Amino acid sequence: VREANRRLSQEAAVTTDGRAIEVAANIATLDDARTAVENGADAVGLLRTELLFIHRATAPSTDEHRASYQSIVDALEGRTAIIRTLDVGADKEVPYLTLPPEANPALGLRGVRLAQVRPDLLDDQLRGLIGVTPHGAVRILLPMVTDANELARLRERIDDLAHAMGRSDPIEVGVMIEVPSAALLADQLARHADFLSIGTNDLTQYTLAMDRCQPDLAAQADGLHPAVLRLIEATTRGAAKYGKWVGVCGALAGDPLAVPLLVGLGVTELSVDPVAVPGIKARVRRLDYQLCRQRAGDLLALESAQAVRAASREIWPLE
Ligand code: PEP
Ligand code: MG
Repeated sequence: VREANRRLSQEAAVTTDGRAIEVAANIATLDDARTAVENGADAVGLLRTELLFIHRATAPSTDEHRASYQSIVDALEGRTAIIRTLDVGADKEVPYLTLPPEANPALGLRGVRLAQVRPDLLDDQLRGLIGVTPHGAVRILLPMVTDANELARLRERIDDLAHAMGRSDPIEVGVMIEVPSAALLADQLARHADFLSIGTNDLTQYTLAMDRCQPDLAAQADGLHPAVLRLIEATTRGAAKYGKWVGVCGALAGDPLAVPLLVGLGVTELSVDPVAVPGIKARVRRLDYQLCRQRAGDLLALESAQAVRAASREIWPLE
């Protein structure tokens, strides 16, 4: 039985009515990449790069960036890796970046905004990413993007750096949807991006104005809150306008009660903790996509996350 389960976890997750959902892994280290492969992840949906370089005294060079990503890509044996550029700030501190303290770090120079004061850090990392082979194995993901103008400028920078390195094949660039403005402007972002990846951890924090690290608010800061669900719906609708795909890489993707809803709202990639991959694949295989689609609309009309959870459990019971 165990061998049969292991083999099944390596296969694609398809709903009963034939919709394929990519189940990918969120990783931070080379070890995680190996765990992802063992657990049957179809790809890496999010590599959080800030953790690779946290135990250091200085910022990594372009070569150090490239070598780290190359070893991870090699370990993935042909699977693609979505690699997120440095997402420093707020809950993610990096000691060697002696940045001036901010009164509201969650609303400050975090994610790609850091490049406004330290463009060198992002450039070194982007050159490292552009140099990984085979080229198609890496997709670049930009965190904390607020609008299409910001994305267009970053995309131009990536293209300029690639050009200077003599690389002419297209580079896939995606954006994190983790700020309400990005969800509301998803169609404009989808025009400039190859894909969108919803970060439900920050999207929940910023939509509900609840600090993701405040334990007293943990129960209320639920990604199944109807306000967050409506922004997820706005994201998939905006992306569909330009034929782009949408993934979820926040913790909601690994929540069995959220999976049918996310699939019903049009999400086609779920990126979860490596060890959660087999369970999420099993959950997807029991779903009927058309039913998910029909019921997702009803659940968006409910008035609390608890009501959404109760309804989801009733329609799609947990095994
Ligand atoms: C998120 O915000 O949901 C996300 C995936 O990114 P992180 O948790 O690293 O902020
Ligand atoms: Mg985030």
